[in-house]
Order: sequence, then structure tokens, then C-alpha cells
Amino acid sequence: MTMPSWRETKVGNHKLGSMARAALWLVQEVGEGQIFTVAKLREAFPDIAQIDRRMRDLRDHDWEITTNREDPALLPQERRFARRGKDVWVPGQAKGPSHKASITNAQRAKVLQEDGYLCRTCGIAGGEAYEDGVEQSVLNVARRQVTLADGRVTHQLVTECKRCGRGSVDRSVDLREILSRIESLAPLERSVLSGWVKAGQRTYSSLEVLWGMYRTLPEESRKTVADALDLDGTED
Ligand SMILES: [Zn+2]
Repeated sequence: MTMPSWRETKVGNHKLGSMARAALWLVQEVGEGQIFTVAKLREAFPDIAQIDRRMRDLRDHDWEITTNREDPALLPQERRFARRGKDVWVPGQAKGPSHKASITNAQRAKVLQEDGYLCRTCGIAGGEAYEDGVEQSVLNVARRQVTLADGRVTHQLVTECKRCGRGSVDRSVDLREILSRIESLAPLERSVLSGWVKAGQRTYSSLEVLWGMYRTLPEESRKTVADALDLDGTED
């Protein structure tokens, strides 16, 4: 495969993720051993919100990008593209720092069981046919990059079907974002979400059950319900 341009977002039907494009930008615009600034990187990718983070992700793929902490010759805003790592723009090369072989059979069995033998991304069960009927799913255990609540970056194992594992869609997660969104939920929303999490599925809340009952009612009964909710006064 010839090296795509960092300006491309797709090669054939393979999508180039932000991390892969950042890698290509380093190779094509900066050059190994050369210095660049984060501002320049952001300038090249104005539409990608966290391009500097995506670039840091390259360190998981043997790319060395140094700051003035490691390289005293650099100014604080400068980075050095010290060493090129894996060809992350090649399909299958951006799979994470460790290979499948390093996941033991025991780990794999445990993850599959904990994930209910379902792809956590699309929800398909092992051996089930996809909706397009083209093939049956095969489940793998993959490494998912997770940013923990304290900001540390780690990799956790997750069940994923082969189809979801293909390509270079960035499925890394930032727990801080999820936790802060939960933090801002209203108490009712929070208790509904908590119920789904405990049940392991999205169950109907009492509100949805009531709405379902209400909408099947004849008009006269709908009116009775509306009156009970005291809608009359607010609508008229
Ligand atoms: Zn899937």
C-alpha cells in the first residue's frame, strides 16, 4: 500500500482516522527528527477537536514524540517527531499496543462471559447473522483505550465482533466525560439511567409505561388523564 496523503479521510473504503492522519502529517509535513508546534498541527486539522490527543495516541503504536521534558533543546510549545512507529494508516495496524496473542485464553473467556457473548459495539451475538444477511458474526476480544477518571490512559478488554473491529474507527473512551455528564443529570434522569445499568438493558421507566397506556386510550379517557394531570389550566 502506498502511503496516503494526510489530507485524505478515506483510502478506498478504508476510513483514515484522526490518529492515522496525524501520523501521516508528521511523516509528510514535519519529517522524522524534526521539530513542530502543536499550533501547526491544529492549523493542519482545524476540524478535528482533539488532534493533539489523537497524536499522543500514536505513542501506543511505537511513535516517539518528545516534549521539552524529555528533550531540553525544545521550547515548551515545541515537539520533536523523534521516531516513526507502526504504519497506523494501514488497516489492522492501529489495533493497539498489544497483539491478540498476548490475551490469554482465560482472559478471553472471562471477557466474553462478562460481556454476555455480545459485541459491545453493535450488540450482535456470536454466530448471529448481520441484518444485511451477508455473513455471521465472529466475536473477538479487543483492547479498548480508556482514559480513567484520574486522567491516566489504559487499555481494557472488550468483546467486539470482527466487523466492528475492522477499519480504524476511533472507539477510545474518556470516562471523565461520561462521569461528568452523569454528574449533570437531573435526579429523575439519573435514577432512570441507574435502573438501566442495573438491569443491563434499557427498560421502560414508569413514565414510558404510563405514556404507552395513555396513548392507547379513547379520547374521553385521555381527557380524564389530562385533567388528572391538571393540564387544562395550563393549556387553555
Ligand atoms: Zn459488532
